[in-house]
Amino acid sequence: MTPSAAPVTGEPEPSLTSAAIEHKLAEDHHHGNGFSNGNSSALPLEYHELDASKLTYSLTDRSRDVPPLGVSDINGETICTDHMITAAWSAKGGWEAPELKPYGPLALMPTASVLHYATECFEGLKAYRGFDGKLRLFRPDCNCARMLMSSVRISLPSFPPEELEKLILALMAIDGAKWLPRDRPGSFIYLRPTMIGTQSALGVQAPSKALLYIIASYMPSMDAPNGGLRLHTSPDDMVRAWVGGFGYAKVGANYGPSLLATQEARSRGFGQILWLYGEKGLCTEAGASNFFVVWKTPEGKMQMVTAPLDDRLILDGVTRRSVLSLAREHLGDEVEIVERKYTIDEVVQADADGRLLESFAAGTAYFVCPISLIHHRGRDVRISMGKAGEGGPITLKLKGLLKDIMYGNMDHAWGVVVQ
Ligand SMILES: *Cc1c(COP(=O)(O)O)cnc(C)c1O
Repeated sequence: MTPSAAPVTGEPEPSLTSAAIEHKLAEDHHHGNGFSNGNSSALPLEYHELDASKLTYSLTDRSRDVPPLGVSDINGETICTDHMITAAWSAKGGWEAPELKPYGPLALMPTASVLHYATECFEGLKAYRGFDGKLRLFRPDCNCARMLMSSVRISLPSFPPEELEKLILALMAIDGAKWLPRDRPGSFIYLRPTMIGTQSALGVQAPSKALLYIIASYMPSMDAPNGGLRLHTSPDDMVRAWVGGFGYAKVGANYGPSLLATQEARSRGFGQILWLYGEKGLCTEAGASNFFVVWKTPEGKMQMVTAPLDDRLILDGVTRRSVLSLAREHLGDEVEIVERKYTIDEVVQADADGRLLESFAAGTAYFVCPISLIHHRGRDVRISMGKAGEGGPITLKLKGLLKDIMYGNMDHAWGVVVQ
């Protein structure tokens, strides 16, 4: 664009604002394919879309043993299943045929984009072995749509999200039966679709090569820590994400820098950081989970409150979304469900007034995890863990509903059966 073409009205140029991501997604949608890293009016003729039906299979001849129930790592290394799926992308040719192959190391040049500029995004979802013997995913379409959004946010290629979902199902169709055996109902495996920029070039630019891969691993259950989850509020001089940033995208760049505070909190006996934002100390997220409180308003009305999505500060969690929708459906008469900005001072005040009833973290990893304590600026806010010490009644009700869907006790469109 020549300087004279710049708008003189003071209106932002769409391609340079945060709205760029919407334009890219709309553009890709319009062209019916996933070319996102170039001028879409000049699509290469040989561009191929990600196509799960082209998946090739090379099965391992060194099948490993399934670990005992509850073991998820060996000497700190996550245990993964026998296979993984990879798909390579280049700006010139698009997506190569995806491959299912033995789980193992990746080969990257030390100059690979991801290793320098954090061109990485990921997803996390679980496969659940139901009490009816079936294997299910929970709302995988939501994860695949979010992966596309995250990918486009960091100039990695787009793809049809339903093709990613088919690939996830294909990996589980091969590894699910062995690694999540039928005699372990109520157990799960953690799926990690990942995309990285692989172009071997040190220039700071959108990578012209990328790799999508999907691995399946074990993960400990984290939803019922002894005595409840203990949170420490973030230090005054540190934020996890900011308005105008990328806290809403599941990109690796959001997590590394948060570990310093998390590590410090752990050494003081806390499980996670409650990330506050801004001068007023807005409550945003608990570690990599969405954060909820249940309180009575000063007027005496029961409310369940969580931070809103509108300023793109927090991650639009699938668990968060599901909790909100189940709460509206099942608890709407007793509890008002509110997505709004609220501060740590409001939480502290509710505690001081005896109005703070419950709190929980919600996310795939932590599931629905009751919070028993929030430490803020030298002060402990203690929260009831309910009669049995496993969480308050609203927390447990929502957790139970989700569990029933995930493990097949309740037939529900959110539970997608792996064939
Ligand atoms: C993944 C994640 C969540 C939880 O999202 P789910 O889709 O429920 O797993 C919440 N916050 C952050 C920062 C996350 O990375």
